Amino acid sequence: MPAVEKIRQDVDELMPGIVADRRHLHENPELGFQEFKTAEFVRQRLEQLGVDDIRTGIGGTGVTGLITGTGEGSARNVLVRADMDALPILEENDTDYKSQNDGVMHACGHDGHTAILLGLARLLSDRKDTFSGTVKLCFQPAEELPPGGAQAMIKEGVMNEPPIEAVFGLHLANETPVGKILVGSGPVMAAADGYTITIHGQGGHGAYPHGCIDPVIIGAQIVVALQTVVSRNTDPMDASVVSNCVFQSGDAFNVIPDTAVLKGTVRTFKDETRDLMEKRITEIATTIAEAMGATATVEYTRGYPATINDEAMTELAREAAAAAVGEENVIPKPPAMGAEDMSYFQLEAPGSYFFVGSRNEEKGFKWGHHHPKFDIDEESLGHGLTAMAMNVLTYLGR
Ligand SMILES: [Zn+2]
Ligand SMILES: [Zn+2]
Repeated sequence: MPAVEKIRQDVDELMPGIVADRRHLHENPELGFQEFKTAEFVRQRLEQLGVDDIRTGIGGTGVTGLITGTGEGSARNVLVRADMDALPILEENDTDYKSQNDGVMHACGHDGHTAILLGLARLLSDRKDTFSGTVKLCFQPAEELPPGGAQAMIKEGVMNEPPIEAVFGLHLANETPVGKILVGSGPVMAAADGYTITIHGQGGHGAYPHGCIDPVIIGAQIVVALQTVVSRNTDPMDASVVSNCVFQSGDAFNVIPDTAVLKGTVRTFKDETRDLMEKRITEIATTIAEAMGATATVEYTRGYPATINDEAMTELAREAAAAAVGEENVIPKPPAMGAEDMSYFQLEAPGSYFFVGSRNEEKGFKWGHHHPKFDIDEESLGHGLTAMAMNVLTYLGR
């Protein structure tokens, strides 16, 4: 393992620049697949650092670059990913780095992820003689906008040149106090699918229901029955969620409408559970509708797959996190039902995705991700960078 003291020293020196980059990005947020200024900013930074093979416009607005070590080691190729996109939220903070793009805000911390990866580029460029192998810096567009930028970059060959053998990434975590890092092996985030059920009944007068096929009653039965997919069809030890979040039908108190539309989200960790969800939701909706004299069409859309951390890569990440913030500050990461398109990279190569605490209630950094007052304790940027540098250098040094 490389000496963490030296890395920490370098990170301390780099911190003012990383914070300045993060604030610049925070002030200039852009939505998914529209990260034009962000990508140009990243490209310029990489060029200043002398990073090799800088490519832009990958999978939309993605940027990649290579840093190749000249020292000794395993000569492997590793990819480190940061997402760059912001959200359609009007910022309610009043800082001097507040969003200058009204209605768009870095409310998930992706400005921090981008700044950390730029910091990693700087740190590795300054110590090329200490490792061998290639680090691919991957600045990804549109994590917040399914189908997302990861898949788009992979389709354009981001995992191939050079052939990537491991992938790493991190997310800032405002639920977790600054100074802590969450690391978990196996499934850490869920697969996120969606469904739309359209019930075709027959409308008419509310006083004469016997002349109609009421899609509202049928929809109500389907909503209730869908809850049995999790409670009665899946293994209780295998976590999953079906949330029907939309029920739209009719607009007059005395008119039975023709149709009703149900929409919901489905979260799972295993492929077979995902397949079961699609099958059962479709069966339940179509057969209940049929039993009640109507028809239903079901559209099931697969979103991001589950994020599964490789055991060996995660042990590396855990050791790196312990070196960065101390063994006592590394917390096991339980799986959560949120989703991430980092998962696509981890389907291509073994990897690990960890979470860096950025909450500081005393300083007012207490708002959750996607909240208009979201902001981070910037100390977290240093922890994230130290852990990621240790992670990558240890992997390449093995
Ligand atoms: Zn987010
Ligand atoms: Zn995010």
